[in-house]
Amino acid sequence: MVQNPKKRPKDIDDFPFPSPPVRPMASSGDVCSGGCPCGAVEVRISGVLPLMQGYCHCTICQDYHSAPMCAVVAFPWAGPDDRNVDFVKGRDGMKTYNRTAAIDRCFCGSCGSPVVNFNTAAGFASFFPRILHGWKFEGQSHLYYGDRAVDVRDGLVKYVDLPKEWGGSGEVVEH
Ligand SMILES: [Zn+2]
Ligand SMILES: [Zn+2]
Repeated sequence: MVQNPKKRPKDIDDFPFPSPPVRPMASSGDVCSGGCPCGAVEVRISGVLPLMQGYCHCTICQDYHSAPMCAVVAFPWAGPDDRNVDFVKGRDGMKTYNRTAAIDRCFCGSCGSPVVNFNTAAGFASFFPRILHGWKFEGQSHLYYGDRAVDVRDGLVKYVDLPKEWGGSGEVVEH
């Protein structure tokens, strides 16, 4: 039987990310609503748990956010028709920046705020925690720590690039 490449990971155990356990949705029920600061973009996420929450230190994120690192919450995403990640408003008003072919970095065309990074091939959508109103962000790991602009001493696992399961070296920085 041919495996369906668009099969959605059912839960964290089906997704190749080394887990600390994921946190449940932070707002009421299993729904989280949010949007950009100016209100032009609104999103509603329901029925899915985040695959990971963490910090990215890659140089692309440093450039894009003009910050030493960024925090991300990654949800499974099946593509533009995915109703679990539903853009209630403003999807067409977002602009896209492609620094690499794999990731569409989408930001509000009105206020310029980064909203979401879509990775179609890998099947996830990474939101920035401030977009998810009421979200209690709890980072689980640091990615691309080898490219870091600042040291962070918080006891979380720090990958030089990515975990092996995500195609990285799996090497970690001890400190
Ligand atoms: Zn990054
Ligand atoms: Zn906006």
